[in-house]
Amino acid sequence: MAGRGAPYLDDLNPAQRAAVEALDGPVLMLAGAGTGKTKALTARIVHLLRTGRARPNEILAVTFTNKAAREMKLRVGRMLGEVAEGMAWMGTFHSLSVKILRRHAELVGLKSNFTILDTDDQARLVKQLLDAEHIDRKRWNERWFLHHIDSYKNRAWSPDEVPASEDPEVWLTPNIGNVPSFMGGTGAKRKVTQVYRAYQSRLLALNAVDFGDLLNYCVHLFKTCPDVLEQYQRRFKYILVDEYQDTNVCQYLWLRLLAQAHRNICCVGDDDQSIYGWRGAEVGNILRFEKDFPGAVVVRLEQNYRSTPHILAAASGVIAGNAGRLGKTLWTEVKEGHKVRLIGHWDGEEEARWIGEEIEAVQRGTRGMDPVGLDGQAILVRASHQMRAFEDRFLTIGLPYRVIGGPRFYERQEIRDAMAYFRLAVSPEDDLAFERVVNVPKRGLGDKAQADIQRTARLSGVSLHEGARELVANGGIGGKGAGQLRAFVEGIDRWHALTLDAVRVAGDDDLLEPIGAVAPAMDHVRLAEMILEESGYTEMWQNDKTPEAPGRLENLKELVKALEQFDNLQGFLEHVALIMDNETEEAGEKVSIMTLHAAKGLEFPVVFLPGWEDGLFPSQRSMDESGLKGLEEERRLAYVGITRAEELCTISFASNRRVYGQWQSQLPSRFIDELPAAHVEVLTPPGLYGGGFGAAAPYVSSMDDRISKADVYNSPGWKRMQDRVQTRGVSQPREARGVVIDATAVPAFTEGDRVFHRKFGYGIVIGLEGDKLEIDFSKAGIKKVVAGFVVDADD
Ligand code: ATP
Ligand code: MG
Repeated sequence: MAGRGAPYLDDLNPAQRAAVEALDGPVLMLAGAGTGKTKALTARIVHLLRTGRARPNEILAVTFTNKAAREMKLRVGRMLGEVAEGMAWMGTFHSLSVKILRRHAELVGLKSNFTILDTDDQARLVKQLLDAEHIDRKRWNERWFLHHIDSYKNRAWSPDEVPASEDPEVWLTPNIGNVPSFMGGTGAKRKVTQVYRAYQSRLLALNAVDFGDLLNYCVHLFKTCPDVLEQYQRRFKYILVDEYQDTNVCQYLWLRLLAQAHRNICCVGDDDQSIYGWRGAEVGNILRFEKDFPGAVVVRLEQNYRSTPHILAAASGVIAGNAGRLGKTLWTEVKEGHKVRLIGHWDGEEEARWIGEEIEAVQRGTRGMDPVGLDGQAILVRASHQMRAFEDRFLTIGLPYRVIGGPRFYERQEIRDAMAYFRLAVSPEDDLAFERVVNVPKRGLGDKAQADIQRTARLSGVSLHEGARELVANGGIGGKGAGQLRAFVEGIDRWHALTLDAVRVAGDDDLLEPIGAVAPAMDHVRLAEMILEESGYTEMWQNDKTPEAPGRLENLKELVKALEQFDNLQGFLEHVALIMDNETEEAGEKVSIMTLHAAKGLEFPVVFLPGWEDGLFPSQRSMDESGLKGLEEERRLAYVGITRAEELCTISFASNRRVYGQWQSQLPSRFIDELPAAHVEVLTPPGLYGGGFGAAAPYVSSMDDRISKADVYNSPGWKRMQDRVQTRGVSQPREARGVVIDATAVPAFTEGDRVFHRKFGYGIVIGLEGDKLEIDFSKAGIKKVVAGFVVDADD
């Protein structure tokens, strides 16, 4: 029996301890960033184990990423003082759902070796359906449909349950030849749910599921098979959920069904960190917890253990701009520390260069604090396209980095191809995988031959693999292709036979008695190598003369290496289908580069937040939206970003940015305006870094008296910018705006001038005060604004 003296309890403050020790019944921990929610949740698991309330496999713990699950497992082990063996049910909603679904697949009409589709597969499938239905894909493409289908799944709606108001209609292609209109030709329409329904039956026929299905099938299973539900309710004596504010309706139902019998559910979260609304998360789930689970113990934590007061104050200042918050006070015992640093750059490349230098300076300990290694430093970007500049720069200077959640290893072409081969070996009926590689490498199968395979399979109602076999057998395919197709079909048979035993081990699970190790027919790593050899895939890249080929071969080796960590191919495929972030870890200290979304729950002594520019952060989409919903979610993202930092947080922006090959002039983010000036230190880069303040010069100079305007306008960066602006011309409206703002930074206004301000619109200057103007805005009324943020409306 644990009690006083147990170190994992002594480490907690009284509020945390209350949440840990309230073992029976529902518990909600609703608290701001860095207050120790995750820590308390972890301690609660240890407490459950220590007090003998539950065995490791009787605890269901839901984390937001697989990485978080791994970390939690490690921490539990550390607190427990022994390895946390048997914590089989710690993972993401998706990984837990796969595990449940594999055992009961038949009950929902699947086979237990079902495939999990990635987004590419999904898109290919929907595209086929749209073409078959003659839907005008130029106007409504497969992504548009998938977005709708996804949002239905997030809300746990089957095709029949989608309300008519949420079910848009689309037109068919105007010219679809001889199909008369009464048969759905020109002029006819389709509902999104019709495509949704067709998509679901295709998936079933393929023995495949997408991500949303994993949860939906589970919910369906729980609702339709009470005995199965009961089995899991009994099994999971305690349920714990981290980052509860980001659950969607379907996940919520999933949890509620599992928890409703014993109500031993503990959820932790922070409404200010709800950042997945765009993916269907409902912050309402956390706000109504007490209604769903009456009598819940609600614990609020206010002491922040992560960040310095300046960092906390900056984050609180920004998030205060959101309406309808629960509102929380955060305090810290930590002493002063650094202010949040703010710096403007000429462009994204310069920003990357500067951050690279800063990282090394911090590493050397020349930034007024103890040296911080690369593992302790992170760059958090709003959009993944921002990563490239950092990757390029860091490769150039040899600064080791890891990208988490960016364009992933597993998304590369050669990796996807190889994975398709592995998928075929595990499930030969995986038609999408078959389609992908049947002619990769080239097997002399043109469009016609491939269409013949499709038709044969359709007519006989079999998989493409079987269809191809049939076609070869009845001589329906001629030329060189015939022999090669036969070899491909037989290859799949052979590889499949070699995976069989391994699959049986994977299908087994810890609810049943453990069956001893079954020796697989062949070691899966060797099998994988063999498949890539025998199929001619490796050879294809060996013979390839393009510059990318050697890298691709390297990646294939890397892939085979990754397999070693798994028991069999199926386990590996599952892992890859599920990982949301790039989790291949190599040795050595590295700077982390990731999106703000991927950074949730993490902490780093030193954090860089680049690209704080309107249109990038907040995103253009959120700014274009009517209403504040999108913008408020962006603001929460800013809050998440700043609160990742323990000691040093640096925000930066650039005046120019190349986005998808196009130069754009940028304005500093409106969130920069919202940073409380008392907690911000503005850095002065000109000369030193060859950069300028760009569009933010007026703002920068207004914030920090130490920099005079003359400093700004005499800086090499500013001059360079003027040159660049002149040579680039000002024809594009976006650029022109940036230029005009720069050019009017010296208040050149007099009373009576008509001006335009981005936030407040048109107005008339009625007073001058230093570099501020008093303006009577036609919509916003009289306001004082910094002159640099105003342009002459008649220019
Ligand atoms: P987020 O909202 O960002 O997920 P969180 O509330 O989950 O934050 P944790 O990550 O659990 O916070 O804790 C933040 C930091 O504070 C961690 O480094 C943790 O070890 C530390 N910490 C938490 N509670 C205490 C405590 N009682 N005493 C000392 N340190 C603590
Ligand atoms: Mg946390």
